Amino acid sequence: MESSPFDAWITNDDELVSLLSQEWQRQTSTLQLIASENFASPAVMAATGSVLTNKYAEGYPGRRYYGGNQIVDEVEDLARRRLTALFGADHANVQPHSGANANVAVYQALLETGDTILAMRLDQGGHLTHGSPASMTSKAWHFVSYGVTPRNDDPEHPGEQIDFDNVRDLALTHRPKLIVAGATAYARRIDPSPFREIADEVGALLMFDSAHVAGLIAGGSHPNPVPYADVVTFTTHKTLRGPRGGAILARTELAKKIDSAVFPGQQGGPLENAIAAKAVAFREAALASFAVYTEQIVANAKAFATALAGHGFRLVSGGTENHMVLLDLRDFDGDLTGKEAQEVLDRAGITTNRNTIPDDPRSPFITSGLRVGTAAQTTAGMREGEFTQVADLMARALRGRAVDAEVQAVRADVAELCRSFNPYANFVK
Ligand SMILES: *Cc1c(COP(=O)(O)O)cnc(C)c1O
Repeated sequence: MESSPFDAWITNDDELVSLLSQEWQRQTSTLQLIASENFASPAVMAATGSVLTNKYAEGYPGRRYYGGNQIVDEVEDLARRRLTALFGADHANVQPHSGANANVAVYQALLETGDTILAMRLDQGGHLTHGSPASMTSKAWHFVSYGVTPRNDDPEHPGEQIDFDNVRDLALTHRPKLIVAGATAYARRIDPSPFREIADEVGALLMFDSAHVAGLIAGGSHPNPVPYADVVTFTTHKTLRGPRGGAILARTELAKKIDSAVFPGQQGGPLENAIAAKAVAFREAALASFAVYTEQIVANAKAFATALAGHGFRLVSGGTENHMVLLDLRDFDGDLTGKEAQEVLDRAGITTNRNTIPDDPRSPFITSGLRVGTAAQTTAGMREGEFTQVADLMARALRGRAVDAEVQAVRADVAELCRSFNPYANFVK
């Protein structure tokens, strides 16, 4: 079995071939429920492994610091054109090596060091680059953090939603130069319009970090922040299902500043092989079939959430409107931590990640929460019925965690389920 057409070219490297085939086995015989992961198409993987990896292209199309870039210029222009068309944006920069690079480049482009940024708290769903003490962003800029409303078990008025009164109060008090919308662990739709209103009220710029939901936006399953935000950043490898990487969309007036911050501000030579793979993914995301895919991701997450709630897990934010479900494990079992749940599920062939939940009494290393997502297994063809089964398997493994035979029995059932939903089945000779 091959994981890419180029595997055959490295058969003289036994050590690496063995590791690649082990990883192929892992990805196709266990369940990939990490909300930030997906299965990229063979076309995306082939472009990533293409001859473009050989080329230096510092600069931008038409303004390179190296010769021989006529064709590379066309590749990067193709990626930029497809991306601006996909989101209806003025300007695209497709060079950021990752989502984190994209965010830091935007801060560098729009702010002086020490300026104030208002963003979501890490322990309430924000990203490291939104000013976590562990991130260099918190050393270069002054962050003020908003959070979510208190927990509320009334299904009609669920709590743990972005607290826009808090966002507005903090904006009025601290007068940030930039407001950041977007999250890494938040299961609700993020409406860009109230962020725009608050930014206008205090004269701030608005950046929407759509790292997780970029694919859902492209497919029409989440509101598009482009008409509201001055800058939109995202990763290309999460719901968008492209190669690992980042990108930035900006209004025309900010284009030059953004481009200079990415290169030479942050990075050296762009990864034109990754940019070609981004172009492939942007084309795929514009197809009608991609809208069907993202609709299924959201439907699957709803079915998954309902089934998990039926097993006694509490849904943080009271449910889901995107590809993600954030679970509070304490109602299911007060002794079960996020760390232990992740480890037990790993043994059962179910790949997830522990996550803090709002006002988590446990440390970020231990946590009381677990984050799961439906994007990858939806690519593999799973639908609502399978996600209900996956919820059953998770509950069984966690309830039976003291008995290894029970965890192993779940693992066998997981492998059986995965056999019918191999994401690359149609491509393997
Ligand atoms: C994943 C993520 C990022 C960072 O992406 P990397 O490619 O891992 O650097 C930034 N912001 C948010 C909200 C994310 O979820």
